[in-house]
Amino acid sequence: MTTLLLKDADLIITMDNCHRRIEGDSLLIRDNLVQAIGPARDLAGQADREIDASGMLLMPGLVNTHHHLYQTLTRAVPEAQDVELFTWLKTLYLIWANLDADAVYTRAKTDLAELILSDCTTAADRLYIYPNDVTIDDEIRAAREIGIRFTATRGSMSRGESQGGLPPDSVVESEAAILKDTRRVIEAYHDPSPGAMLQIAVAPCSPFSVTEDLMRESARLARAYGVQLHTHLAETKDEEAYCLETVGRRPVAYAESLDWVGDDVWFAHGVHISPSEIDRLARTRTGIAHCPSSNMRLASGIAPVRAYLDGAVPVGLAVDGSASNDSSHMLGEARLAMLLQRVSGNPAGLSAEEALWIATRGGAEVLGRDDIGQLAPGKAADIIGYRLDKLSYAGGAVHDGVAATVFCTPQDVDLSIINGAVIVEDGHLLTIDLPSTIEHHNAVATRLVGTH
Ligand SMILES: [Zn+2]
Repeated sequence: MTTLLLKDADLIITMDNCHRRIEGDSLLIRDNLVQAIGPARDLAGQADREIDASGMLLMPGLVNTHHHLYQTLTRAVPEAQDVELFTWLKTLYLIWANLDADAVYTRAKTDLAELILSDCTTAADRLYIYPNDVTIDDEIRAAREIGIRFTATRGSMSRGESQGGLPPDSVVESEAAILKDTRRVIEAYHDPSPGAMLQIAVAPCSPFSVTEDLMRESARLARAYGVQLHTHLAETKDEEAYCLETVGRRPVAYAESLDWVGDDVWFAHGVHISPSEIDRLARTRTGIAHCPSSNMRLASGIAPVRAYLDGAVPVGLAVDGSASNDSSHMLGEARLAMLLQRVSGNPAGLSAEEALWIATRGGAEVLGRDDIGQLAPGKAADIIGYRLDKLSYAGGAVHDGVAATVFCTPQDVDLSIINGAVIVEDGHLLTIDLPSTIEHHNAVATRLVGTH
């Protein structure tokens, strides 16, 4: 057993059920769990190691609920900068067709490093394209090496252009191969126990890239193993028109017809959703991964997050793919989520506390977990810390530390602890060599885009 004391924090934001903010206390970690929060004099004698947290704000690590790590290789590609989703995808599919195992492993390490340094301690990723020798095992290896809590969602595309889908036939897989590999990945990696560092979800890509059969079979498979289900839904008007034309239903009704609702399902985006659809999502406890940067970047629209929260729909936050964002900063995303709910005229559209809530507790809920996203005894020791004497917090944190983290320029963490292990200390990532990783990443990205 190992114990670690984070001593004398200026402020601990617990994100517990009482929304407690605690000033001047310490936090004791035993192995991979939070053991206690209290005065240092009561806890100090029990710790093998102490970290001085004075001058710091501590809070639960943020939970990223939707992402495509491989897209870090194609950020800011000129032809895909100023186009909407379908054109953006058609441009990039041709580049992604050149992915290989080394590219998948390399970009996973780079983007997970960016996520950890920004504030994320649990990341869900969706790899849905499997050309050449690509497997999901390569990104799982990267996640384990870097030390992040990870939900690998086995994505898939089966409906190519010849079947009326959007992707070229060259990048889709057969449905038999998809289901076989998904089963393999669940059996090899999924850990259902509390405190799991690795979970698997089943994630066919979108209505316009998989068939109804694959959606149904994926739901059946996920429920047989008790794992979560995830897909893109109601992202753009184009998608809505595609669904109406091909299956005669709006996206949510289409999902319902395929048994794709429930507390084991979460959808990325949920931008174009009607009030009655919000009621149906709330009633079934179906979750949403809100991706504000991506929705703005691709001109997709504004997700009705205020209405989701008022209607008790589970909402998490997500950076989405690195090529439709083009960054992986969860706190930056929380800030944009807050601002985007205000832009149409409601200055209280989303508060800073609500933005942090969906980035922590909301994310935990949509991933089907109650062991992360809050700092309380018995919960996972996933903790991030910010020094409050930063330039960006000057004149802000003295009034309201919680609001300052969201209102002021989003900062990188000074401290990150994941599953009880110190991963970032004094702003330095301890688990990988960052400069050599970035250098290799840039070489892979140049080769990938140059050869398409
Ligand atoms: Zn996505």
